[in-house]
Amino acid sequence: MAEKIRKIAVLTSGGDAPGMNAAIRASVRHADSNGLAVCGFRRGYCGILEDDYVPLDRRSVSNIVGAGGTFLMTDRSPEFNLPEGRQKAAEVLRSHDVDALIVIGGDGSLRGALDLYNDTGIPVVGIPGTIDNDLAYTDFTLGFDTAVNTVLWAINSLRDTMNSHNKVTFVEVMGRRCGDIALHAGLSGGAEYILVPEVPFDLRTIADDILGSVKLGKKSNLIVVAEGAGKMEDLCREFAEYTGLTPRQTRLGFIQRGGSPTYRDRLLACRFGIRAVDLLLAGKGGYAVGVRGTEIIEMPIAEAVAMKKTIDLDLYRQASSLI
Ligand code: ADP
Repeated sequence: MAEKIRKIAVLTSGGDAPGMNAAIRASVRHADSNGLAVCGFRRGYCGILEDDYVPLDRRSVSNIVGAGGTFLMTDRSPEFNLPEGRQKAAEVLRSHDVDALIVIGGDGSLRGALDLYNDTGIPVVGIPGTIDNDLAYTDFTLGFDTAVNTVLWAINSLRDTMNSHNKVTFVEVMGRRCGDIALHAGLSGGAEYILVPEVPFDLRTIADDILGSVKLGKKSNLIVVAEGAGKMEDLCREFAEYTGLTPRQTRLGFIQRGGSPTYRDRLLACRFGIRAVDLLLAGKGGYAVGVRGTEIIEMPIAEAVAMKKTIDLDLYRQASSLI
């Protein structure tokens, strides 16, 4: 029987994502509702190692549910990758009487959480927070929905000006090695082509098709490029060589990481935070929470991070049939 916990800590780590604040709030308030003391550490694992401690209570998370970013801030810590770093982190946590930890972050942050749990036995639960949606064990990560909606807003604006100028436009979106942002925003934004790292493509064929459609009077051709699918500048240069057309290039960049979280991300944040605290109350460390369909799920972090993310090929094919 696991020892009863009395105090938990929360941190956000790695790339920030909309909904992280809402997840901190849910964790803090649900913990408080269950009689636990709560604190935070600023700037992810760096904050533990540098003892950047923040006392938290119900009131300290007021008015953040709709704010993008993370008020606890986030960072990357090379020191935490080392066993000595994690032992030091455990000492700092113990010095504040912290019995358990909630880590909100992406793949790397979850791996760090697992290492801390394995090395020190401190119960840790991970909440998937990244706009990339690059974790295979969960249908959605926190921040993905907001990022896709931000891309959609940008695509709508670009279409207005594309239509007015008869321009082919390449839009580069984030996602690291994952094409989910490109696929979901491209499909729902009516993109003519979606280039993702998971599916090989032939730019020559695409260029020929687009040139043909331009000659027939098609006014707007939008190609959404996932950042992992290739360098946009190179793709545009090749495209120009093939077609003689000069495409416009727009890199949306960090705009995709900000903004007020959507309803879907806020709901997910609330449900993830509550489940994370419930797991710790039940004495379950080393788990990650996620969502499958409409169900909130939990899975040992070791299994969760070992799963290989793939793209939804059916959805990809459906997008291609709607051009
Ligand atoms: P994200 O969580 O967004 O994927 P990173 O991959 O940069 O971001 O990871 C955030 C932090 O998590 C790293 O700076 C490091 O402190 C920790 N981390 C990442 N991978 C590991 C690992 N394999 N073992 C231990 N800690 C890790």
